[in-house]
Amino acid sequence: METAKSIPLSGEFELFERMAEHEQVVFCNDPSTGLRAIIAIHNTTVGPALGGCRMHPYRSVEEALEDALRLSKGMSYKCAAAGVDFGGGKAVIIGDPKSDKSPELFRAFGQFINSLGGRFYTGTDMGTTMEDFIHASKETHYIVGLPVAYGGGGDSSVPTAAGVLYGIKATNQSLFGKPDLGGRTYAIQGLGKVGSKVAIGLLEEGAHLYVTDISHESLRIIEELASTTSGTVKVVGSEDIYSQEADVFVPCALGGIINDQTIEQFQVKAIAGSANNQLLNETHGRRLQQKGILYAPDYIINSGGLIQVADELYGINHARVLAKTRHIYDAILEVYEMAIKNGISTMEAANMMCDKRIENKRNRNGFFTTAMKPKWAFRK
Ligand code: NAD
Repeated sequence: METAKSIPLSGEFELFERMAEHEQVVFCNDPSTGLRAIIAIHNTTVGPALGGCRMHPYRSVEEALEDALRLSKGMSYKCAAAGVDFGGGKAVIIGDPKSDKSPELFRAFGQFINSLGGRFYTGTDMGTTMEDFIHASKETHYIVGLPVAYGGGGDSSVPTAAGVLYGIKATNQSLFGKPDLGGRTYAIQGLGKVGSKVAIGLLEEGAHLYVTDISHESLRIIEELASTTSGTVKVVGSEDIYSQEADVFVPCALGGIINDQTIEQFQVKAIAGSANNQLLNETHGRRLQQKGILYAPDYIINSGGLIQVADELYGINHARVLAKTRHIYDAILEVYEMAIKNGISTMEAANMMCDKRIENKRNRNGFFTTAMKPKWAFRK
């Protein structure tokens, strides 16, 4: 079988074409630890690039590069939408997270991050853990999302859930002319770290919930909690959640759940939840628009966790982070208004809003240089 190491990169001209939208791509190679990583910096107009680090047994360097380029561009949009002082970046480590990790590999990775002098901040993503970044943080300060004991902000599901509740309020405001959560019905898919907190927030306001989860324990906890609130809970099957007649469908489990099959089944006025990559593809955003279902773009409504890690640069303060998640209410309303005004889907409007925000900053800031922001580079 061909390994990532045996497959050559394409010619340099194609590489520059591939990264045409990006500022910088860094290839990191450390034979002594087996580290092979790619760091993609998409855009630093708003601030230094921020994005997690994935570790995955990519089948080729091409595949790893493609992932880094695609995900770093997504981070530019996510940061612009969240209104944080960061641009988009992403790192990928080529390797199997089950067998190829070592403390030394992450320390070597930390040294590469440090060599960028604050142009890129990173932390955990698929295949990497906080433990890995404790090792990396011995070599660099440009790490976010560490455990509380190591000076990080801790559990990001708290601000993520707070942001989802703000997103649902904005959705209700747009649908019903008032943001109140209570008295409405919601169909929640997934009662994990985020979904359970969203469910509790809704129940406390007197909402009526249809819920589903593959974990019976999670369902039992929410049913018990509901009895202490003015809200109600009805458990439904995994597949039945899509066809519940409710005001808002709240996906907090899986990606790709807005697709040809589920769009046929939805009997809701809106979709607003935390799951990543909810639309199977962009055409499904337009299909929702045609069906008259309002869609809160996932990368905006679920940006509470991003707001928390970005805020770490000013020191840890949970109250300030929760206050900042209110920004999500305004961003979602702005997107809904833009979509109506331009006759486009809310996802198209979200991308348009982010392009505009980055462009506005470019006109004011010019090209960002970290040298101008020494307090970020030496925060500890
Ligand atoms: P989690 O793993 O704690 O919870 C997911 C829940 O979904 C679990 O309870 C699981 O049992 C349930 N589930 C899995 N498959 C299911 C199915 N087929 N039907 C019903 N339930 C199912 O994850 P989380 O941290 O709560 O994140 C939920 C979603 O939000 C994910 O898509 C995640 O990527 C996204 N998200 C999370 C954060 C965060 O801060 N945790 C931030 C942004 C986005």
